[in-house]
Amino acid sequence: MNAGGQPANRTPLLAGNWKMHKTVAEARSFVARLLPQLPDRGAIEVGLCPPFLGLRAVAEAAAGSGVKLYAQNMHHAQEGAFTGEVSAPMLVEAGVDGVILGHSERRAYFGESDRELQLKVPAALQAGLMPILCVGETEEERDRGDTERRLRHQVQEDLHLVDSERLSEVVIAYEPVWAIGTGRVASTEQCDEAMSFIRALVGDRCKEQAELTRILYGGSVNAENAAELLALPDVDGALVGGASLDPYSFAAIAAAAVR
Ligand code: PEP
Repeated sequence: MNAGGQPANRTPLLAGNWKMHKTVAEARSFVARLLPQLPDRGAIEVGLCPPFLGLRAVAEAAAGSGVKLYAQNMHHAQEGAFTGEVSAPMLVEAGVDGVILGHSERRAYFGESDRELQLKVPAALQAGLMPILCVGETEEERDRGDTERRLRHQVQEDLHLVDSERLSEVVIAYEPVWAIGTGRVASTEQCDEAMSFIRALVGDRCKEQAELTRILYGGSVNAENAAELLALPDVDGALVGGASLDPYSFAAIAAAAVR
């Protein structure tokens, strides 16, 4: 155990979700400015999630740096008549290490369902990609006391087809929908409650795996508030949107994530 109470084998993870931002040229320039700012990456795992077209450029620009590469979505099938989609083997071929699944924007704007996620999460694992599964309640759900019900549904459904002994290979990002891109951050108490609830849900499947599972917080994390959130015992890192678009603020968050 370290000072924050985490077992040493839960390496903190910081992932920057660029969403639909940055051209290939901008992605290259970002990586060139980011790399000299990053803390010792033995202590923390740092990853970038560019749009599909930027994946190759980031892979090349970050080669040899230890910075990981994550996609923002994928289809569950290996190939097929799914116009506009990208499969796990295609991502692997492009040098991708992991994939965000179930981001609230994909759930809200593109109709991504828990049923689809139930297939996507094991498909990512099978291809050798680390899934970053996003879960979180809307403001209305929180207001009517349904936060735990929503989290239970998402965690149980989306992990249903993952073998119990592989659960800790899935990173779970707790992202309250009302905190994403709004500047409103979950309080440390809200965060603590949700994180330990999610860990307990994984623990219902396998206690050992739950202790090894990394759970991230996401929602308006920035260089100013990162240290307080990342110091919470059950918070194993962050999924960052807006503040990941600037290499200096992203590097400052990475420094705060080092334990
Ligand atoms: C996100 O998109 O996953 C996210 C957390 O965004 P932001 O940091 O901008 O709230």
